[in-house]
Amino acid sequence: MKIKSATLFPLSIPLQAPMKMSGETVTHANTLLLRLVDGGGKEGWGETSAAPLMTGETLGSVLANTAYLLKAAKEVSWTDPCQIGNIQSRFLYANTSAKSCVELALLDLFAQAKEEPVWSLLRKVHRIESLAAPDPLPVLRMLGGSLETEIADALALRDQGYRHWKIKVGVHDLNSDLRRVAAICAALEGDTISADVNGAFTLEQAVEFCRSDLTSRLSFVEQPIAADHSISDFVNLKTASPLPICLDESIHGIDTINVCADNGVMDGASLKLIKLGGMLPGMRAAIELEKRGLNLNLACKVAETALSAAATASIGFAMNGAPWGLSMSNAYLEYDICDVPLAASQGRLRVEQLNSVGIGVVPNPSLVKKAVSKEWGIIEC
Ligand SMILES: [Mg+2]
Repeated sequence: MKIKSATLFPLSIPLQAPMKMSGETVTHANTLLLRLVDGGGKEGWGETSAAPLMTGETLGSVLANTAYLLKAAKEVSWTDPCQIGNIQSRFLYANTSAKSCVELALLDLFAQAKEEPVWSLLRKVHRIESLAAPDPLPVLRMLGGSLETEIADALALRDQGYRHWKIKVGVHDLNSDLRRVAAICAALEGDTISADVNGAFTLEQAVEFCRSDLTSRLSFVEQPIAADHSISDFVNLKTASPLPICLDESIHGIDTINVCADNGVMDGASLKLIKLGGMLPGMRAAIELEKRGLNLNLACKVAETALSAAATASIGFAMNGAPWGLSMSNAYLEYDICDVPLAASQGRLRVEQLNSVGIGVVPNPSLVKKAVSKEWGIIEC
């Protein structure tokens, strides 16, 4: 397979409401769409997002690196999905977000050529075709705004079938976060509720948070301390915490999973395509977690479109499960880039929603053009 043309669409899509996290407040999805056209005229779509605090990449840097990769990708004859990572690494070191964007579009084309969905192709590549037909994935919702708004929104969503939640903490002082978590847990009794600290606590605050009676109903706490803490700090936290620990910013692939798992500092990890370099390395990471008996959370960056949501969900369907939930951030956008945005039904995403050939989401060109960032514009590579 040869790439005939490649077009980059740097997008800026407003969120329905700003998403407050400990290190930043996100008001727009700064995300990059890629359209590849192969020799037969078929289109493959990719997406990646800027996440300066997670990958170190801005929209400008990810745009430059993806354009650089595409110049090389157009010279390659693509014959084997398993070789995408190795070939990309011949041209560019690191830069997982740019690689994830190109990989997604190539896998979309490979799956179309084989007339199957991407999740099924991922199973074949990893020789796990014998797994049962995928069950629906539990979709996790993030909560935000004032406590009253959070609880009102959560109860309305609960009526629609949602049962998995993520509370962003570390924005307010510790005591108000503790009271907030307790109030939300009381309102959503029996649900799977997690708190994501995005590394904002000191070790002492993290231990106090995890040991408090007010947080005892949480199912797990995500990245309580920053990724640059020493491994002994993570060991001390894990030893002190009665709550399961999920790591996100600390996890960037198999190497970091091995270090954290070998030191026994986590009960599971949050995987994002932008950190790992795409769906294939994402699958390898998910398989490693499962092998070690660790829990899997699949998450899009806040915020990405239905395309990234489909790619992230494809890992969950290929693995047949994401015990700590799937977070699809397209639900927080003012508008999506396809006619029928990928959405949960009864709080779950069903495999039938991604069973068409390819990635399962086809962007509408006019919606994509509407979302193009005024700062960057469309780029033909
Ligand atoms: Mg997180």
